Amino acid sequence: GPQKVDRSVDSVCPFCGVGCQITYHVRDEQIVSVSGRNGPANAGRLCVKGRFGFDYVASPDRLTVPLIRRADAPKDVAHCETHPDWRRVFREATWDEALDLAAGRLNALKARHGPKSLAGFGSAKGSNEEAYLFQKLVRTGFGSNNVDHCTRLCHASSVAALLEGVGSGAVSNPVSDVAHAELIFIIGSNPTANHPVAATWMKNAAQRGAKIVLADPRITDIARHAWRVLPFKPGADVAMLNALLHVIVNEGLCDEAFIRDRADNFAALAANVQGYSPEAMAPICGIAADTLREVARAYATARSAIILWGMGVSQHVHGTDNVRGLIALATCTGQIGRPGTGLHPLRGQNNVQGASDAGLIPMMFPNYQRVDNGAAHAWFEDFWGTTLDDEPGYTVVEIMHKALAPESDPHKVRGMVIMGENPAMSDPDLNHARHALASLRHLVVQDIFLTETAWLADVVLPASAWPEKTGTVSNTDRMVQLGQQALTPPGEARADLWIIQQLAQRMGLGWSYENDSCSRTLDKRQSQNSSETYHGVAQVYDEMRRAMHGAIAGITWERLQREGSVTYPCLSADDPGQPVVFTDGVPTKNGKVQLVPADIIPPDELPDADYPMVLITGRQLEHWHTGAMTRRASVLDALEPAPTVSMHGHDLARLGLQAGGTARVQSRRGEVELMVRRDDGTPPGSIFIPFAYREAAANLLTNAALDPFGKIPEFKYCAVRVAPA
Ligand code: SF4
Repeated sequence: GPQKVDRSVDSVCPFCGVGCQITYHVRDEQIVSVSGRNGPANAGRLCVKGRFGFDYVASPDRLTVPLIRRADAPKDVAHCETHPDWRRVFREATWDEALDLAAGRLNALKARHGPKSLAGFGSAKGSNEEAYLFQKLVRTGFGSNNVDHCTRLCHASSVAALLEGVGSGAVSNPVSDVAHAELIFIIGSNPTANHPVAATWMKNAAQRGAKIVLADPRITDIARHAWRVLPFKPGADVAMLNALLHVIVNEGLCDEAFIRDRADNFAALAANVQGYSPEAMAPICGIAADTLREVARAYATARSAIILWGMGVSQHVHGTDNVRGLIALATCTGQIGRPGTGLHPLRGQNNVQGASDAGLIPMMFPNYQRVDNGAAHAWFEDFWGTTLDDEPGYTVVEIMHKALAPESDPHKVRGMVIMGENPAMSDPDLNHARHALASLRHLVVQDIFLTETAWLADVVLPASAWPEKTGTVSNTDRMVQLGQQALTPPGEARADLWIIQQLAQRMGLGWSYENDSCSRTLDKRQSQNSSETYHGVAQVYDEMRRAMHGAIAGITWERLQREGSVTYPCLSADDPGQPVVFTDGVPTKNGKVQLVPADIIPPDELPDADYPMVLITGRQLEHWHTGAMTRRASVLDALEPAPTVSMHGHDLARLGLQAGGTARVQSRRGEVELMVRRDDGTPPGSIFIPFAYREAAANLLTNAALDPFGKIPEFKYCAVRVAPA
């Protein structure tokens, strides 16, 4: 029968960007089960991560006391993989000692080398309030705009293209709009693994007769529900998209009235695609010309067609061009601005949308106000009451380069605070990234585990897991949702919001966020120590709401407590929220979509005789990103306990490998050994490795080459060789 619980607390799933609403059931101060709530994104549904991925919170690996690196402990990058006994490397400290040391050394570096010598990585796994406060700490305390987070590694190129093309980086339509679509075009995405509950809506739509088109080099599970599958050659996205546009332009399938009223630069786009006929592109992208024509016609003539994409589109040196192609497809056919149409970059992490909105990016203040825009800069100087840097800061990968810059570089990064990110696993070319982290004069890591990154820290601050916090997160559909605290952090671990404020105080910022209206939502036990658990979250939220210039004006903290989820834009208290946008033009300067032609740019590192195969990295259903949480969740770890490399049966035979055997995979930058898995959905000549496993870290192999616009690395393509180990 049902287990007796002490309390049930409503929150939001801490993993992917779908934003499923959940309820934690707590007994004896442990989460004993999780159930799905009837949220707007999930309607009670959960995937295996949301349902079973919670006991990481109670892992014996949790950090429960601040740590300081021992004076005689070198920053050994090998520790990132070997995880030796932590007592040899760190000693325990009080909060005062750890915070004084952390902030004191940051202050000293700033005084000696200037504000640009400091940088911060925030996290898409934290709340909006934490993201907002962290970027405010960097901009007003560190004094530079060197603040970024993992959005740089996932949809930075999508956002660059969307801001340029339609004036807004967020989705135009929610996932649930697939119910109104006649055609669902999924590209560079494996939704059944990475957005599983979103995938259920797509499957339901297919069952009701919608046509799914899957365009992806890997033939993944959603292909079973697809009307057409386009397994194009890795890296050939622009060739394929331009061929589709060629058909639309040349077969009279454009929505001419829509283009006239709503788009700029169509003539240049139309001229550019003339060189990209399906017949010419078929050998390049690997899809038959007839199929390209058939899909282009179906997309253009559907009553409503929606495009959803993932990191397969964005993580390329031509990621921005890929998204320019998707914007052009939707615009030329008028498939935008109505229910069941539009552009949906599926956000990966639970709060990557919100963290970006809150300003956790180096070139923009909250709500995408550019730091080098005079009016925006003046507004924020006034709002925060301090002088601010008006130069865009460095991005994630650039900051790693700047850490290894010569002493003479005036912008050399010497000190960092990393809150909830794990660049020693998630950055490309990990040998480089780990050496960059190890070379920092001062690294402060705020996290719930001794992550691979924390092993390279000088000071480690034990933080709170999501079920130990109250705060808001914004999902892929632009829904701002409230999560409530279910547990007290273990030992001396403290709320991230408190830690940020403590660092700020010690860096001379006179902040005071008080504990007020939110405490009434606490249950009796928690309210006894509410001053320790809330840290002014409602007040921080309200300040962020004002900094967001209207986008969430109508979403007050009180309304979130009442409704749990409100979609922005939401301009006033009586605005129900706007799930579908661009109904009336787009928020560019003249209200029109700016079409941008794109030409083929090859991947940065092509296979050759030494490294003849292509590595594609990504995620898998059971594990989350760098594995810090899910590999410590017992059920998920039991389901997928070991790193694997997937490849086609032909390649197994050709290379003398056996499924279940061990392969050595090498690139010019590193090598890993891992178990072989046969997957005939992997394109011959390519391999797939998930990046969640420290014992075979896929990013030791990847290439740090960047898309020039979004500054996103090419995680989806590098040259490797594979042999039996
Ligand atoms: Fe959590 Fe995403 Fe799974 Fe929903 S689909 S339960 S948000 S991981």
